[in-house]
Amino acid sequence: MDAPREPGTLGLAVAAVARAIVPVVCPGCGRPDVRWCGDCAAPWWEAPYRSESGAGRLDVLGRAPLPTWSVAPLVGPPQLMVGAWKDGGRRDMDPFFRDAMARAVASLAGALHPISVVVPVPARPASTRRRGLDLPGLLAEAAASALSRTNGSVLVSRCLRNSGGEARGLGSRARWSGSALRADPRLAPGGRMALLVDDVVTTGASLARSCEALERAGVAVAAAVTLAATPPPGANRDLGP
Ligand SMILES: [Zn+2]
Repeated sequence: MDAPREPGTLGLAVAAVARAIVPVVCPGCGRPDVRWCGDCAAPWWEAPYRSESGAGRLDVLGRAPLPTWSVAPLVGPPQLMVGAWKDGGRRDMDPFFRDAMARAVASLAGALHPISVVVPVPARPASTRRRGLDLPGLLAEAAASALSRTNGSVLVSRCLRNSGGEARGLGSRARWSGSALRADPRLAPGGRMALLVDDVVTTGASLARSCEALERAGVAVAAAVTLAATPPPGANRDLGP
């Protein structure tokens, strides 16, 4: 828990005005007057863990699942925080999750040594429009920046496209499976080793489709890192109260 502070008169006045404009609560627990609390932020400082075993559809490539790391399981406060960031308009959390991704990738630098390009799994265009920001792109920039400290120059390539799945009227299942992904051949960083980055891995289907699309374009995919992962069925990781 954060230590109680004693703000000066000006600080109190500023806080009061800020609250009057935008009531702020921790999205993880509802604690008032903090953007996020120390308790709910703590899981995002943990070392990333291997999450591909929970993503049942990551193995559609017919070989070993893509090595995938995630920072926090998508349950409890972390799930509420990611939801607030993705769909609750909490643009003030952009630096928080950017930093969480950077820490995770920096801690994996040894395992990610051959990687020289980071590719975000594209969000649906409607989601990006609603958010006003490309969230996987933001995470990819953070990952590339962190990796470049050990791997030299690391590019971000936004070469993956949702190739008209929505416009062509594919059903929700097709969109959900990510089957409409393709790599733009003009942008694909052929010959490079890539890291895929996304906010969340659930079934792994989007990562698998991204991997396939990149490999068709001559880009080898070494691993994936996401902020959060849906825990495998039956998993009951204790996250505290
Ligand atoms: Zn909290």
